[in-house]
Amino acid sequence: MYIYADNAATTKMSPAAIQAMVECLEKTYENPSSFYMSAQRAKERLEQARGEIAALIGAEAREIIFTSGGSEADNQAILSAAAIGEKKGKKHIISSAFEHHAVLHTLNKLKKSGFEITLLPVHESGIVDVKELEAALREDTCLVTIMSVNNEIGTIQPIAQIGEVCRKHGVLFHTDAVQAVGHMPIDVKAQKIDMLSASAHKFHGAKGVGFLYARKGIALTNLIEGGAQERGKRAGTENLAGVVSMSIALRESVQSMEQTRQKLLPVRDYLIAGLSEIPHSALNGDQKERMYNNINFSFEGIEGESMLILLDQKGICASSGSACTSGALDPSHVLLAIGRVHDVAHGSLRLSIGEDIDYRQADYIIASVKEVVAHLRGFSPVWRDLQTGKRSYIL
Ligand SMILES: *Cc1c(COP(=O)(O)O)cnc(C)c1O
Repeated sequence: MYIYADNAATTKMSPAAIQAMVECLEKTYENPSSFYMSAQRAKERLEQARGEIAALIGAEAREIIFTSGGSEADNQAILSAAAIGEKKGKKHIISSAFEHHAVLHTLNKLKKSGFEITLLPVHESGIVDVKELEAALREDTCLVTIMSVNNEIGTIQPIAQIGEVCRKHGVLFHTDAVQAVGHMPIDVKAQKIDMLSASAHKFHGAKGVGFLYARKGIALTNLIEGGAQERGKRAGTENLAGVVSMSIALRESVQSMEQTRQKLLPVRDYLIAGLSEIPHSALNGDQKERMYNNINFSFEGIEGESMLILLDQKGICASSGSACTSGALDPSHVLLAIGRVHDVAHGSLRLSIGEDIDYRQADYIIASVKEVVAHLRGFSPVWRDLQTGKRSYIL
């Protein structure tokens, strides 16, 4: 058995996206900036992909900048808003405690150069409170950056309401939508989003390619200086094959979005119900306002890393939090942000299921996790203390 349940870390490329990529590498290898006719065709192909991607999120082609992925788009959006703010003497930024590190580390960098950062709490539900956000806005706030969907617990943020509040107060709004693009409907105009980050490999495109949407009129800061590609905002010869395949992958994902949701939602709930039978366990994050592919549990008295190793031996690819921090001994900042204590946060499991999952696989996952948790608790000193009453249960 091999079950890939780590789609929040990356997804398998779609055959059509691979085909588009190979075709492009073979037939359209010219540099889009070159002079001759064949290079012009490469340039046209690039602009066609830009137009298609823009249309799929309700944007205009000139509002899309291609990047190396979600992290770069997050960095560029935040540093651009900070530069715009600084010019007006506005050096306050609002974000949330459970953002991706591409956002949090960029904010930390800005803090060192005199910016003030407010990280909103996300409560036990894993959802930002729009009223709290509005109350945190100040005269000198230059940016609100809140992710659309959390990558560890899958909770969906009230993006349109946040957009509304930010627009009303004249504050720029960026959203890291890496877990949302291709998975839920997005309309940057209707949702009043000023900047949005996306990454192809989270919606069955290739790794190392993504885009930043920035509403026209927003002056972007370059992270990479050099040639005049991407309207002078992102130098470097374009990743044409990556971009073209991204446009194919996004179109496919958007077209099959509703079908995927309807297929995965009941399987997700079946998995949640099955894993809830494990004593002293808890689902992390709200069950309703949650992506249809995300299951995240904490099990008291065990360590997540050992659980992952044993599940791997059973052919199940899962995660204990985000792939970016696995290997580190700190518990997930996301789980700490929703109020899980260190010990409990350590014993956590994220399953992010994909389109090809079926109930037979779901049954296998439930049985395997039950077995692994029981096994690990069998020799866990923490579990023994809980059983003998030396410690009291939290979950
Ligand atoms: C994966 C991910 C990123 C990083 O995207 P890359 O393309 O891997 O750089 C950023 N934010 C979120 C929410 C993600 O899930």
